[in-house]
Amino acid sequence: MREFDYRRAEDVPGAVALLDADPDARYLGGGTNLVDLMKTGVERPARLVDIRRLPLDHIESTGDGGLRIGATVTNSDLAAHPEVRRRYPALAQAVLAGASGQLRNMATVGGNLLQRTRCGYFADVTRPCNKRLPGSGCPAVEGEHHNHAVLGASEHCVAVHPSDMGVALAAFDAVVSYRTADGAGEVPLADFYLPVGDTPHRETALPPGALITGVTLPPVPSASRSRYRKVRERASYAFAIGSVAAALDISDGVVREARLAFGAVASRPWRAYAAEHVLNGAPASADRFAAAADAELAGARTLPGNAYKVTLMRNLAVAVLSELAEETAR
Ligand SMILES: Cc1cc2nc3c(=O)[nH]c(=O)nc-3n(C[C@H](O)[C@H](O)[C@H](O)COP(=O)(O)OP(=O)(O)OC[C@H]3O[C@@H](n4cnc5c(N)ncnc54)[C@H](O)[C@@H]3O)c2cc1C
Ligand code: SF4
Repeated sequence: MREFDYRRAEDVPGAVALLDADPDARYLGGGTNLVDLMKTGVERPARLVDIRRLPLDHIESTGDGGLRIGATVTNSDLAAHPEVRRRYPALAQAVLAGASGQLRNMATVGGNLLQRTRCGYFADVTRPCNKRLPGSGCPAVEGEHHNHAVLGASEHCVAVHPSDMGVALAAFDAVVSYRTADGAGEVPLADFYLPVGDTPHRETALPPGALITGVTLPPVPSASRSRYRKVRERASYAFAIGSVAAALDISDGVVREARLAFGAVASRPWRAYAAEHVLNGAPASADRFAAAADAELAGARTLPGNAYKVTLMRNLAVAVLSELAEETAR
């Protein structure tokens, strides 16, 4: 049993100051990931700074028609919010596809973005793992990797990011806001997660000690007809082995704007820019949807146990895009 200090922050500057004073401190959101990792010894914070009472639990419309979501909004409240369901249904669907009701009642938006990979070697402190212990090796490449990355990975780490929520946020160009002792900052979700390269232990672009204060969604007209579809090995209470968030703006049978993001295939929610490029301005047809998926997956690098993901993601993307196109035609 390791002792640690617990503090409850009452305001944002106070929370940031507590982290700034102690590099071994961690923010505590819902604790649904951090506390599990503390029990297994992966995380060993000297202090927890509980942020659940900070005034960051609101969802509000922005002047331009977007939404600003506070960092301590729970997953349950996010998925149930009428404006989220109306304007960004894929986001509500993604959140509801994750974890369980009890977990969603505790889990927060900030914590969801910063949850760690579910790679079994990462969670087992008796095994090497470059992400947990830089330079120690990656046993997943030769070992168990059936749910590991096929896009954007490196030989140093092939783990995937497990968030469902993040996939929808990536499709809609969300921007993450944060606060440090030096002031406020913002980073687009597209730049939030760092490339794996040879530094898989460096996961995000957040400065040290940064508190995520919220996520802003810009207005995305096509998002009101968006969809999230998740494939998993059990019908509920399981992480994705592949997922798709998509939105299509179609008029006269032509795609005016496509938004597509993949989950559980990379170290970050994967925005499918190559696929979008194939789709934009093209006929909304199954052939073109397949060509778009192929363009994105052309860069896939597979291992023996996860090659199935390429076919899975192709079929999933074509199915979701076809359903969206049919709905638009009705
Ligand atoms: C059994 C189980 C099944 C699950 N299934 C799914 C699933 O299918 N899909 C899915 O997406 N997720 C799933 N999850 C993960 C779950 O969604 C995450 O554990 C949860 O979202 C994390 O949020 P939290 O607020 O509890 O984070 P915490 O555990 O409190 O924190 C996680 C990390 O984020 C940091 N942090 C938290 N808030 C902030 C902030 N505002 N600023 C800076 N740092 C912060 C913490 O210091 C910590 O490092 C599952 C979890 C469990 C236990
Ligand atoms: S895939 Fe990444 S997290 Fe898993 S063992 Fe390799 S380095 Fe560690």
